[in-house]
Amino acid sequence: MSALAKRIDPVESEAAEQRELTDGFHLVIDALKLNGVKTVYNVPGIPITDLGRMMQAEGIRVLSFRHEQNAGYAASIAGYLTKRPGICLTVSAPGFLNGLTALAHATTNCFPMILISGSSEREVVDLQQGDYEEMDQLAVAKTMCKAAFRVLHAADIGIGVARAIRAAVSGRPGGVYLDLPAKLFGQVMDATAGEKSLVKVIDPAPAQIPAPEAVKRALEVLKSAKKPLIILGKGAAYAQADEQIRTFVEKSGSPFLPMSMAKGLLPDTHPQCAGAARSTVLKESDVVLLIGARLNWLLSHGKGKSWGEPHSKKLIQIDIEPKEMDSNVEIAAPLVGDIGSCVSALLEGMGNKWTPAPAEWLNAVKTKREENVAKMAPRLMNNNSPMDYHGALGVLRTIIKERPDAILVNEGANTLDLARGVIDMYRPRKRIDVGTWGIMGIGMGYSIAAAVETRNPVLAIEGDSAFGFSGMEIETICRYNLPVCVVVFNNDGIYRGTDRNSAGSDPATTVFVKGARYDRMIEAFGGVGVNATSPDELRRAVNEAMDSGKPTLINAVIDPAAGSESGRIGNLNPQSAIRKKPTQ
Ligand code: ADP
Ligand code: MG
Repeated sequence: MSALAKRIDPVESEAAEQRELTDGFHLVIDALKLNGVKTVYNVPGIPITDLGRMMQAEGIRVLSFRHEQNAGYAASIAGYLTKRPGICLTVSAPGFLNGLTALAHATTNCFPMILISGSSEREVVDLQQGDYEEMDQLAVAKTMCKAAFRVLHAADIGIGVARAIRAAVSGRPGGVYLDLPAKLFGQVMDATAGEKSLVKVIDPAPAQIPAPEAVKRALEVLKSAKKPLIILGKGAAYAQADEQIRTFVEKSGSPFLPMSMAKGLLPDTHPQCAGAARSTVLKESDVVLLIGARLNWLLSHGKGKSWGEPHSKKLIQIDIEPKEMDSNVEIAAPLVGDIGSCVSALLEGMGNKWTPAPAEWLNAVKTKREENVAKMAPRLMNNNSPMDYHGALGVLRTIIKERPDAILVNEGANTLDLARGVIDMYRPRKRIDVGTWGIMGIGMGYSIAAAVETRNPVLAIEGDSAFGFSGMEIETICRYNLPVCVVVFNNDGIYRGTDRNSAGSDPATTVFVKGARYDRMIEAFGGVGVNATSPDELRRAVNEAMDSGKPTLINAVIDPAAGSESGRIGNLNPQSAIRKKPTQ
């Protein structure tokens, strides 16, 4: 055979090409792996089915969900728990839109997340010629996230992934959309050039050091306080500066108030914790230091009666986002930087001679707190059947005390508001809940990601309505055999199960099937289902589930008359000026 013939031998040249070429699929996977992505939350379908398969084959853990919104919530909380972007992978148009709710949620909550969606062909979408699942996804996503990118050429995949990662975790973390059109995956390029095109993101979330004058100003304001208060938000929990924060709070001698997801950063049983004296400290404090907490609706925007107005307070705020300052009220001492650096700088500035806050103030707070705790105690010990919220939560409170490393997922109305107050947390980032929007639907997605990312047991305390938004994912929990125990607080409906429709035979808008047995749903997938009608039964069932680590769903039968409308935020419901409430 001549040399020329050898060179063009079809079989050999194909083999040579295969060795030297790569494509969009592999470049996406290589780019993610290069940047340490180990887990992807996914719902397969056109055009990303093979991408998921190949990721799995290449050693990425790919968890397939039943609905994109739940995969998205999982990715968002994975971002919060790990400080690395959680990755959600979806199909085009409808799958993308389902995931988008979670991406907007991640952005609102300042969680780093990347939503990667396959999309239809640009040429067809832009001429609106009616492609399969046609949608200008990039344009839609832009309004709902921190940044959005589209990659059209295989050679740009490395840059696209790098930009997405950096945008998600740097500064104030948030959601990023990455649009990958179907055609990109099959694009072929030289393997060596492909490898060179990948980017390893160096220092994706650089420390942001506060200005020395700002630190000095903050300390001066803090020093002037007679009744200081430190409010810890989920930004403080996210920052993973647990030791510095604890040392700072203790050195300050100030009471601290943890926002919902900051509970456990210092234990709720800490002598300085003002969780059970919330209204007193908000009203009476004279200087308030916010650490990774925004003055949004959850803090009454920092004003009004609950903040003791017309008396004015001075505020110090630590946040990585400069625009957060003065968002609702004047901030006397803005401290812009990452929480770890800011708190360290404050500690340094305090030196060894810092005088802690006056003891009378802390003692007054302590007295108030003990009073409130004592008032609640007997209610938590009742063994009523059907259960009321306090009886059921009293049991779960003890279980978390005995198992402080378990992750508590919590959503609902009454189930959320009461559990937040009743259940003490002892370790950082162990309570994850509805967050800034107060949304329902995070339950099973959060539970799955918490179990996968931390390998700790998960206890999900769910209102029956809240559970319904993601309930199908109990199949996912069973499929991956995750140590998740779901307790559904079943009171036959939304807020209460007792509403009646006075105008017809349809059920009232807020009620569900009476006596529903949610426990039987998980049995369909091989999990453990338990019907618990008393606190004693509930205690036994949860302990068993936490010991065994088997996927479990407990239907906790709650008195349908026990709840109140919208839990603790009924005041946010608008009232009709001309009609009384039609159902009672
Ligand atoms: P909460 O609801 O618990 O009060 P928010 O979500 O309102 O908490 O506030 C969190 C704040 O933390 C946001 O303003 C965000 O910019 C800030 N933040 C998040 N991560 C960091 C960080 N590493 N350093 C400083 N601030 C941060
Ligand atoms: Mg309910």
